Amino acid sequence: MAQEFTQETTANATWSRMLQGNRRFAEGKAEHPWQDKETRHMLTDGQNPDAAVFSCSDSRVPPEIIFDQGLGDLFTVRTAGQMIDDAVIASLEYAVKKLHVSLICVLGHGRCGALETAERELDALMESITSEADGSLEAADILDNLDEQLAQSDSIVLRQAGMSVWQAREAELDCLDDIERVHVARTIESLVDRSEVIRQALADEKLMIVGARYQLDSGKVEVLSF
Ligand SMILES: [Zn+2]
Repeated sequence: MAQEFTQETTANATWSRMLQGNRRFAEGKAEHPWQDKETRHMLTDGQNPDAAVFSCSDSRVPPEIIFDQGLGDLFTVRTAGQMIDDAVIASLEYAVKKLHVSLICVLGHGRCGALETAERELDALMESITSEADGSLEAADILDNLDEQLAQSDSIVLRQAGMSVWQAREAELDCLDDIERVHVARTIESLVDRSEVIRQALADEKLMIVGARYQLDSGKVEVLSF
């Protein structure tokens, strides 16, 4: 019990520290900690990051800068639209299993180009389904199995983010901001679903996963609760 309590405390303390760093960054008071020569030398023998961040590759959203962290603080994995593949899973599993991070932050952001693409491609797919289907009943049938349609799509973006757009729209959350929030939630679900290591660490209370979204205008990270 004491062990579990400590891990949760560590994860919460890490997350608070990251959010404090984000506040400094958003206010234009970044301290750029742990980026000096001494820190670099100190870290040559190994790394012991507190958190892993899985975020979009967007050049405006580098986790170390927006959380005002330094060398050795964050283990980062980034892909466009934080889409998941085997390399992402393996990288995060390394962070959990070997580096013992107590926190994974899944970070989406405003005006995400990957999700804009997913929206456009989903619209095009819907149009072709409706126009090719023989009557509205058949179209409804196909739409009922949209997840299968998307899973079989040639487009990586549609396979990875199409359901996020669809789910958001089904819940009448039509704006891109909401789609981005839904996509973070689905990304977390999918990580847990696909990784035994992550599932086990969560079950053992050795890991906490948080969802967040970075706002380009304010520079602030919005904490998402699902
Ligand atoms: Zn993006």
